[in-house]
Amino acid sequence: MRAFTGSEPLVGEVVGLRTFRVDESGLLLPLYSDRSWYDGINCATCAPPTGERERRDHQIASPDCDCGFYAFGSAEAAGRYRNSRYVQAVVSCWGSVVAGTLGIRAERARIVAIWLGPGAPSWVIKRVALTYPSARIYLDRDEMLGEHPLSVLPCYETPKPASLRRRLVLPMAGAALIGLGLVPSQALHGALWDTWLGVSVALAVLLAWLTLFSKATGHAALAVVMAGLLAWFAAPLFGLAGWLLRLPALRAACVVGGGYLATLRPGYFPIVRAPAVPRFRGVVA
Ligand SMILES: [Zn+2]
Repeated sequence: MRAFTGSEPLVGEVVGLRTFRVDESGLLLPLYSDRSWYDGINCATCAPPTGERERRDHQIASPDCDCGFYAFGSAEAAGRYRNSRYVQAVVSCWGSVVAGTLGIRAERARIVAIWLGPGAPSWVIKRVALTYPSARIYLDRDEMLGEHPLSVLPCYETPKPASLRRRLVLPMAGAALIGLGLVPSQALHGALWDTWLGVSVALAVLLAWLTLFSKATGHAALAVVMAGLLAWFAAPLFGLAGWLLRLPALRAACVVGGGYLATLRPGYFPIVRAPAVPRFRGVVA
């Protein structure tokens, strides 16, 4: 059994919890899609985030696909996302519903109640309330969960916190890579040279694939990150002038670091800028 699949299709209504982003017009957006949810019934489609066309050859939220509206089965599971500290919503799901260890995927869903965190400006709260008149707005999350209890399914498991070792692997690997790009070219020999060459070639191949062959959403942005990393790795070959190649990566680190520090400000509440074009109905997320 996986996080959101593995059970036989369920019958009836299942209540789950989601986290959303909120835009300045008061619409709720999934974390990884700009297709907003609407007041009342939302119907999922099977449109993979790779830009492929909508698929209609199977039941939405079938055990054999990843489509459908996702919802967590518990507050602990929903808390895995950082955005859950700002916006959460209780959603009622029905139609074809498949469950896993952390939550469900469903064909249809409706927002029942919305909690907005302590930093939410009053104008955002008003706009969300106007956009979702059939949902009740809460400023106290416990009160929302007390009045709208989540469904308890036997397949749910309490999520285990990641071990310290697992949490350290990625930062340590990142630090090692950054350090390798700082080694002067005269010191690059033996095993160090082999590692440097291997990583550089791997980055170049990945960049070429992302640029020439992949059309998936987010891959263009990933290609820019890869190009910055490749420039960082090539820098030791150019001595002092190599610092020019390191500038894009250093600038990106400042922007990302500054953005993260801004989220630590007391009363911070993220609001997405609303796009100028209208969104379409029919959502996958
Ligand atoms: Zn599908």
